[in-house]
Amino acid sequence: MIPLACLLFIVGPPQTVVIVTPRGETIVPLSTERGSSAVAAPLLAGPLGLTAAIEGSRATVSLGGAVFVFQLGAPFVRVGGVVYGLVGEPYVARDTLFLPLQWLADCVPRALGARYHWSAVATRLEELPVAGTVVATAPMAPAPAPAPTPTPPLGRPANAPNPLTGLRHHHAVVIDPGHGGADPGNPGRFFSGGLVEKDITLAVARLLRAELTRRGIAAQLTRTSDTLIDLADRGAFCRAECDLFVSIHVNAMPAGRSAERTAGVETYFLSDAKTEDQERVAKMENDALRFESTAAGGSRGPLDYILKDLQLNEYLRESARLAELVQDKVVAIHPGGDRGVQQAGFMVLTTARRPAILVETGFATNRTDGAFLASSLGEHKIASAIADGIVAYLLEFERRRVDGPAGGS
Ligand SMILES: [Zn+2]
Repeated sequence: MIPLACLLFIVGPPQTVVIVTPRGETIVPLSTERGSSAVAAPLLAGPLGLTAAIEGSRATVSLGGAVFVFQLGAPFVRVGGVVYGLVGEPYVARDTLFLPLQWLADCVPRALGARYHWSAVATRLEELPVAGTVVATAPMAPAPAPAPTPTPPLGRPANAPNPLTGLRHHHAVVIDPGHGGADPGNPGRFFSGGLVEKDITLAVARLLRAELTRRGIAAQLTRTSDTLIDLADRGAFCRAECDLFVSIHVNAMPAGRSAERTAGVETYFLSDAKTEDQERVAKMENDALRFESTAAGGSRGPLDYILKDLQLNEYLRESARLAELVQDKVVAIHPGGDRGVQQAGFMVLTTARRPAILVETGFATNRTDGAFLASSLGEHKIASAIADGIVAYLLEFERRRVDGPAGGS
């Protein structure tokens, strides 16, 4: 861990934030755009006793006895075992850590309980004295988001159910074939005919599009040929007219004693990687960044902040459920077995503003998985199973909407 000999900024629409504690008061200037008109705020040794450190792509901020773990470029923060969605991505510029204002306004009060109070009107965070009526108050459990509906079915209203799927509404899915162009993905040790990961992901994605179309679901690919799309741009395909985002990949183990033995399917949704193995996969897939010509990110308007704030927590829950249902279906047809639903900080999933998952369809470093993935039959089976998982999720989603919040899980 490298302690950040630096200052801390908060990013969000207002110009300043006032932080009031029993030990003093601090005014923190805000930056509304990446890199523009930001003013330094000496928060590091300020009255909140806040400290920040960065290790690789991970930023750790302690405040009020709680440790907040951020992943640079990814819109979430972990406190203990709880993951909060953020409306913006933390980033480092000019030796300064930038955090979304919503972290201070929303996550800090929720994580630290009644000791902190946020006033949106005054853009003011107040630490209450410890002695007093709040002493006996336990920290609040992380309140669930007010449950806005993240993915209103598009187009026509409720109809007779589709005879093949039972779905009553129109749905649209964005399919992302991993890698492409200058980025081959993993070398595909046990693929035949010189195939590499980018070939398999495109083949499976095309078949998945056909399977979804057959089931009456609109499907669009982020790439239809051997081209490289920036990770940050892939998720952007899934905005207004999109219900969910599925990225297709092939796993690989680093060379070693057990490399060839490891096999099976994993389905990921966006979160902070919790194990070494999850971090390995996230690192491998995020590596595509080095092939990209422009840096990820960019400025966003205030409306985007508000919309993301309302929707992100809901997306995480929905993504977890989607991952579970897709994983179940793919495992049933796969020779390699079940490696479970996993969570990791995939760059490609951070920009989708809908439920988003990444399917690692098997291991190119395992002989059986590799042959299955490189075969027409295997690719058809995987595509069909993913489509079935998506239908299962959408059916559940439509049912919950009809039943209302009381009928939800
Ligand atoms: Zn990949």
